[in-house]
Amino acid sequence: MYTLELCEAFTSLQGETSYAGLPCFFIRLSGCNLACTYCDTRCAREPGNEEKIETLVQMAGTGVHSIVVITGGEPLLQPSWRNLALEICARQGLPVLVETNGSKDISNVPAEVTAVVDFKCPGSGMSDEMDWGNIDRLRKHDEVKFVIGDRRDYQWACGIIRRENLGSRCSSVYLMPVWGRIEPGRIARWMLEDGVKARLGIQLHKIAGVR
Ligand code: SF4
Repeated sequence: MYTLELCEAFTSLQGETSYAGLPCFFIRLSGCNLACTYCDTRCAREPGNEEKIETLVQMAGTGVHSIVVITGGEPLLQPSWRNLALEICARQGLPVLVETNGSKDISNVPAEVTAVVDFKCPGSGMSDEMDWGNIDRLRKHDEVKFVIGDRRDYQWACGIIRRENLGSRCSSVYLMPVWGRIEPGRIARWMLEDGVKARLGIQLHKIAGVR
């Protein structure tokens, strides 16, 4: 049976994406190839524990969860993430999202799974690491987010959204504040001035006071 290197698995509210607000099973895999300035999941960049895929599939199907998010770290670094996702889809019938940091090729994300691609803005220090071929690889049900720390990040993201017509390539494009670094209202006002084709994303789980 396949195993994965796991950082943690837990139940909480999905705070982002078009699935925000739903009870969710989070599977956080260990390992990341980036080092973002605002990273708040440093534990995922350290060695984790080996866990059987079978155990995680069973935990996902407790009846509490409406969706499953496979995240990291960078989950695409561990090829068996696909086995995990496909087993959950087939046996538990739950929607599965995989959150990826934009630096890895998303071609092998199965059709049943939604890719949430977090293209890193300059303020992250990681924007040069992005695999821009991923823009052409987006499917209609995938989602994109840009985490915004300042005006420069905002303008950079808007340039890509407009130049690539991102809104027509996937289901949703989000502009989200770096939590604690910029007020969401500032981004909202910029969006209203510019008419950029994107949604303001708020980390709902933080407002709700859950992890
Ligand atoms: S991609 Fe995510 S886990 Fe990796 S360094 Fe950036 S914020 Fe942290």
